[in-house]
Amino acid sequence: MSMRKPLISGNWKMNLNHFEALKLVQELSYQVSREDVDAVDVSLHPPFTDIRTVQTVIESDRLPFLLGAQHCYHENSGAFTGEVSPAMLAKLNVAYVIVGHSERREIFGETDEVVNLKVKAILANDMTPILCCGETLDEREAGGAEAKVAGQIVAGLAGVSSDQVAAMVIAYEPIWAIGTGKTASAEDAQAMCAHVRATVALACGDAAADAVRIQYGGSVKPSNAAELMSQPDIDGALVGGACLEADSFGRIIQYRLAE
Ligand code: PEP
Repeated sequence: MSMRKPLISGNWKMNLNHFEALKLVQELSYQVSREDVDAVDVSLHPPFTDIRTVQTVIESDRLPFLLGAQHCYHENSGAFTGEVSPAMLAKLNVAYVIVGHSERREIFGETDEVVNLKVKAILANDMTPILCCGETLDEREAGGAEAKVAGQIVAGLAGVSSDQVAAMVIAYEPIWAIGTGKTASAEDAQAMCAHVRATVALACGDAAADAVRIQYGGSVKPSNAAELMSQPDIDGALVGGACLEADSFGRIIQYRLAE
């Protein structure tokens, strides 16, 4: 078994302007210690308009946070009004890019094929994709959760080498748990993350499956982070609502200190 360092990622969604971003990152830096980031990697995913500000404070104050983005286009430049390219993000030292979040899939119509193009474009620019997957409540109740998630992973990873998959992050986020306050039970989250790993093993081989980091996302809070993180196939958390305040995100990062 490889040692997978946990990754806790904060997805700010469409919240906080660049002044508010600066304040949150500074507050978070007072809360999070070097020991914390020795134990877990932490990535911050602000809106595009905040990224340069967050990059500057991280680099000038040498803060122990990795920079992330929530989205990008799959081409590096061209006539794509309104889009932001992976090359532009890489130039800002963005390390992680979320791809295929359920809000992008549901609200903006991103298909598995588009998600796959983005995964490959992010990798081609030496950044790490956080590939999101997850089922709706209807799909779960109809017994289709495993098939839905396996389909999203196989399609999202098509044409990606095993070595690249090994270095990637996959976020399992049941859609019914996102922003609803309802968290999957630790047992259900573990079972689905084990299923994600088994799917990666079939598609990309055992070494990639052993190394890939799998996050759980869906109403992660300080009160449930430790139990979720103690599961053998859960290597991190993708956090929405609870990452917008330094205190709650800090306590999630410090989940290992909870009794
Ligand atoms: C998310 O959007 O990835 C998410 C998990 O949100 P929340 O933590 O608010 O459920």
